[in-house]
Amino acid sequence: MEIIEISKIIADEGRTIQYLQEKGLLKKYEECPYCGGKSIGNVRRQKLKCYTCRKEWGIRKGSLLEGLRLPLEKVLMAIKLFELEISALQASKQLKVGYKTMMNLFDLVRKAIYYEIEGEIELFSGEIELDESYFGGKRKGNRGRGAFNKIPVFGILERDGKVKVEIVKDVTSETLLKLTIKKVRRGSLIYTDKYKSYNGLISLGFKHMRIDHSKRFGNGKVYINGIEGFWSFAKERLLKYHGVSKEKFPLYLKELEFRYNMREHDIFDLLIKLLVKYGLVANNA
Ligand SMILES: [Zn+2]
Repeated sequence: MEIIEISKIIADEGRTIQYLQEKGLLKKYEECPYCGGKSIGNVRRQKLKCYTCRKEWGIRKGSLLEGLRLPLEKVLMAIKLFELEISALQASKQLKVGYKTMMNLFDLVRKAIYYEIEGEIELFSGEIELDESYFGGKRKGNRGRGAFNKIPVFGILERDGKVKVEIVKDVTSETLLKLTIKKVRRGSLIYTDKYKSYNGLISLGFKHMRIDHSKRFGNGKVYINGIEGFWSFAKERLLKYHGVSKEKFPLYLKELEFRYNMREHDIFDLLIKLLVKYGLVANNA
């Protein structure tokens, strides 16, 4: 949905509430949550009342929005700004809400994305590119020694498919091959550079082609431009945040994996679905 469509919905409070209920961001009450009575109705602004037990409750009760201070008419716009990769700080200024409130919502969306992606179990197959890269830290360095302070990330990319990234404790053969077995179907054709940790792929049942970066022009399909493209995509975006804390890095990394994989899609509806699916859990985590 585009901003212009959102602005039409949120111009009217009734329509906003109806939309949020349809999408599941607000709970739709058919009966009283206290006595189960079916005779309920709207009283006052954003309040419901049971005519049997005479109790009242807010329309946010029992939904993710109960814990968020964001006014209802700003919820959809905030999700839209997240979709458009606007920072929480900029979004808070645009919508005139507190930075912390906006950050809470954005982190909830990130956690929802994280839970969804961690649950994916399908195997990659066909032509696969593997590579590792380092994130964060100030010091430049190569693999292993010198990469002090940086976070190693392992990437698996299926050509014409998705990318999957994992933070790893090291880039040893044991670590990288174990993750490859977990994520890639045996028999797939794997492209890597000449790094020694990729030794052993063939004995594990994969086909393996290595790129020689020292040759100016690679031969034919022997390249890892796909996964290298993801590293640039991710690093360019992380720069915007002026350094993400180590604690939050896993959330941001998964967000970038998600954004990369969905880059041809309109993700607004999907973000709402994920929020509804995981929001309450994430809020209590
Ligand atoms: Zn009741």
